[in-house]
Amino acid sequence: LAAEGELIRVEDVEVAFDGFKALRGLSFTLMPAELRFLIGPNGAGKTTLLDVLCGKVKPTRGTVRYQGHIDLTRQQEHQIVQLGIGRKFQAPSIFSTLTVEENLLLSMRQRRGLLSSLTARTTSAQRSKMREHLELIGLAGKALHKAGSLSHGEKQWLEIGMLLIQEPELLLLDEPAAGMTDSETEKTGELLHKINDRQTVLVVVHDMEFVRRFAKTVTVMHEGSVLCEGTMDEIQADDKVAEVYLGR
Ligand code: ADP
Repeated sequence: LAAEGELIRVEDVEVAFDGFKALRGLSFTLMPAELRFLIGPNGAGKTTLLDVLCGKVKPTRGTVRYQGHIDLTRQQEHQIVQLGIGRKFQAPSIFSTLTVEENLLLSMRQRRGLLSSLTARTTSAQRSKMREHLELIGLAGKALHKAGSLSHGEKQWLEIGMLLIQEPELLLLDEPAAGMTDSETEKTGELLHKINDRQTVLVVVHDMEFVRRFAKTVTVMHEGSVLCEGTMDEIQADDKVAEVYLGR
């Protein structure tokens, strides 16, 4: 039974690929307004969990509830987007030949189901929403630059901005700082906290230094299920975690 106010409740979920179980009876909950870091060794099933939450992968067993009453396993990927779950994939989805501003505008219009046209008049409400998101992702000074001219880190932030402008309830991110410079990585950590002022965030991270710096609560996965959960201090003091990471 779902507890009051839970945003996500995954219960006893199994995902099998040709007999190989990527998730093995995984249970996991997320409350609204959380910023949760998901860590664990390679192959633990972290990406598969994100795939289940956005509907890309269907469990072979178990339930996935959203906002208490919605069964996500019965929803198609596009319906899950409509329900307010936004996923950033590794593959880039920006339009290089359009400006930063135009990319944000396109994304904002897609949500309304309009056939997007850049020549349609932009309302002042849309303009101010766009400016607000440009500030948030730190690209206010590059609004009129072509997206293709941005650095790797800036492109990632633009993509995050394009998701956020659609006002999701839950944002799913897989290694948002991958391939970034130190200063971009730092800004990305700060961005996660700014986003979390408004949205629930579930983020897969490999870089443990990044986790130490920016994590509030951490879920450790191992072999397709949750090994332990808690603050970074609690995680580091856990014998099971030490065994998995350090072979102790
Ligand atoms: P993580 O993100 O924690 O590194 P993944 O969720 O990517 O782990 O993968 C978990 C396991 O499931 C891995 O052993 C991986 O090889 C396997 N796996 C993931 N996706 C597929 C797929 N589409 N087909 C077959 N095996 C897969």
